[in-house]
Amino acid sequence: MSLKELIPADKALDIVLSGVQPIGEEKLTLRRATNKTLSQDLISLRTQPPFDASAMDGYAVLQSDVTSLPATLNVIGESKAGTPFDEPVGKGEAVRIFTGAVIPRGADTIIIQENTNAGDGTVEILEGTAKGKFIRKAGLDFNEGETLLNAGDILTPYRLALAASMNHADVPCYSQAKVAMISTGDELVMPGQATAPGQIIASNTFGIAASIENCGADVLDLGIAGDTRDALRVKIFEAITSNADVIVTTGGASVGDHDLVLPVAQEIGFEFEIAKIAMRPGKPFLFGRFQHKGKTVYLTGLAGNPVSSLVAFNVFVKPLIQKLSGQSAEALQRVPAVLSCDLPENDERAEYMRATLTVSKDGKRVASPFTKQDSSMLANLVRADCLVYRAVKADAAKAGDACEVVLIS
Ligand code: AMP
Ligand code: MG
Repeated sequence: MSLKELIPADKALDIVLSGVQPIGEEKLTLRRATNKTLSQDLISLRTQPPFDASAMDGYAVLQSDVTSLPATLNVIGESKAGTPFDEPVGKGEAVRIFTGAVIPRGADTIIIQENTNAGDGTVEILEGTAKGKFIRKAGLDFNEGETLLNAGDILTPYRLALAASMNHADVPCYSQAKVAMISTGDELVMPGQATAPGQIIASNTFGIAASIENCGADVLDLGIAGDTRDALRVKIFEAITSNADVIVTTGGASVGDHDLVLPVAQEIGFEFEIAKIAMRPGKPFLFGRFQHKGKTVYLTGLAGNPVSSLVAFNVFVKPLIQKLSGQSAEALQRVPAVLSCDLPENDERAEYMRATLTVSKDGKRVASPFTKQDSSMLANLVRADCLVYRAVKADAAKAGDACEVVLIS
């Protein structure tokens, strides 16, 4: 395939993801495992609850003692969470009990505290309870040996709590990809600095770094490389020797005289399969691989224009990072909407148009694309609620026609 070819976006995603395997596995303590991905099924090491437990504060009694009420019973002891009462409960007897405590032997009924009058060494039962009510049977939640979490599950807060309850102190997780970021351009300065004529602020850098972190990956920000071969070569080598799995560059990915990412990376030994995508924004997109010390290093070269780089990141780089990190690679999800205005026939590049969304009286999403779609306009991207997707060569569309949108806010 020639690097001059405009590659359709779905085909390009197949190329990017082909042969990609998770980079590895590691054990993480629960506190370090938030949002990481399980690499193996997780079997419970215990039964929960491990014993029949009271769900209420009250008294553990025999049902046969509370069939005619009121009844007065002798309180023979106490069972609290962590400190069971070891004797059996007999006829005419009650054990003071608290939530989470072991049900003493013999007892089959919990009378809630509100339905009793405590006496001196006795308790008067005013209202009964069905047998078994307010008793959590052993294994109510789960049993030892049950597989409750599966490889591929993201460790959300609920799942982490469950893993802890299953008595796992650490969990097998896929290793997270290490992603090096290089911003390119002589004109770039960091936010907060004074700008000389012709300079602009490196904004992509922050949007892309946050996007990488949102994938759960580690970011190694290598800063800005000026538009010279040497500057770029140094940064790419730094990324490789820092053991990056993916190198994300911004800027310099097109065909101008100062667009050096492709030739410099090729000199280093990267083999490229993609240089241009049939997509707007995001036409310049480089994808190459390099073998280093037995592993594949991926280079994804994003355009410099902020909107192009962020859209291309979501379409191609995010799924790559997800797959390397053992997550399922998510292609951008499109949902149905209708257009608020006419749109002309589309050309040979699929388009993602920034648009706002409203909801019509009949509950449909109505997308209104901005008139200006220039890929340098970040404020419009932030104002947008969605991207209206237009397929390659899509026919002209009328207001009210069905369309597909990617929700972004
Ligand atoms: P390039 O792809 O290098 O030709 O850059 C295209 C446009 O994006 C130019 O106007 C650059 O100044 C701008 N640009 C490049 N890198 C960044 C960045 N990190 N943040 C914001 N704009 C950038
Ligand atoms: Mg540039």
